[in-house]
Amino acid sequence: MTAIDDLPVRAELRGTSPYGAPQLDVAVRLNTNENPYPLPEPLVRRIAERVTEAARHLNRYPDRDATELRTELARYLSRTAGHEVGTANVWAANGSNEVIQQLLQTFGGPGRTAIGFEPSYSMHGLISRGTGTGWISGPRRADFTIDTDAAAHAIAEHRPDVVFVCSPNNPTGTAVGPETVLRLYEAAQAAKPSMLVVDEAYGEFSHRPSLLPLIEGRPRLVLTRTMSKAFGAAGLRLGYLAADPAVVDAVQLVRLPYHLSAVTQATALAALEHTDTLLQYVEQLKQERDRLVSELTALGCEVTGSDANFVQFGRFPDAHAAWGRLLAAGVLVRDNGVPGFLRVSTGTPAENDAFLDAVRALKKESN
Ligand code: PMP
Repeated sequence: MTAIDDLPVRAELRGTSPYGAPQLDVAVRLNTNENPYPLPEPLVRRIAERVTEAARHLNRYPDRDATELRTELARYLSRTAGHEVGTANVWAANGSNEVIQQLLQTFGGPGRTAIGFEPSYSMHGLISRGTGTGWISGPRRADFTIDTDAAAHAIAEHRPDVVFVCSPNNPTGTAVGPETVLRLYEAAQAAKPSMLVVDEAYGEFSHRPSLLPLIEGRPRLVLTRTMSKAFGAAGLRLGYLAADPAVVDAVQLVRLPYHLSAVTQATALAALEHTDTLLQYVEQLKQERDRLVSELTALGCEVTGSDANFVQFGRFPDAHAAWGRLLAAGVLVRDNGVPGFLRVSTGTPAENDAFLDAVRALKKESN
């Protein structure tokens, strides 16, 4: 049988494994930060209508510039994220992972580097590697917040081409304020100048306002968002960015022609028509997230304060063993490899109760 290593695979990919959380058939699945609520029926019907209309034109390529969708995403951001943006500020792709890939293809690449402050979203490093960009693991404090001085120092030392700030941060749930982003942006400009990407995939769940207003007058600051979490549409694959129009022009140099299918554009537009209903689910999830934090704390867990739709909890002498025990109890959470900690996505109230029961039993066993 031919193995991967028998093929002329790029040297830096040899011996690595594909990214992906286990997709296991378990009663309570709280491991990939999805929204637990299916899309509401009126929206499902609206998607069917919009997709039916799109299907009538599938003999043609889709709108290459996704203008209507970008206009509606800009309206959504302007309405909810505290800063007015227009179509020219927004770009969309198949999930924010593809947006990040396009940013790294444009601003990273062979001979260039990117930095993130870890533990953070591991795909920043993996997409860097996939695009031939060198990856630098920057520091984070033991309490998982960013030490701004240490981070600015790392930027000055390594002079990366791309700086990632994930806020709220996956997997820790911690968010940063505008002062941190401004300081790191200044450090990045002094060092190179380089691009600073704020990954706000979980922005809608935060206790803090969006960092979107910071793009004003800062052409090398990019904010990325997704419809996978707050819009409950992980299966849709729609991510987007907001930045200076020059950034939108620049990523078009690497985007594949017609990368965003007509079906995707139609579905995303239907979802945006139902923003208000979907944001009500976000409010419920925020309350449940806060409940998870307080109940886990009451159970004696060490819990990292969360601004996202998930909670990092511990501290386990062997986090992977604890993960296995929760799985055996029918609850799938995520072991992100942070020593001593696991991550649980906020589910429905019933799913969260099942999870809390399983943690309670685990705690009893180990006492
Ligand atoms: N950024 C962060 C921080 C994430 O956690 C995720 C999803 N896990 C993404 C980006 C990518 O999301 P998507 O490609 O579904 O938009």
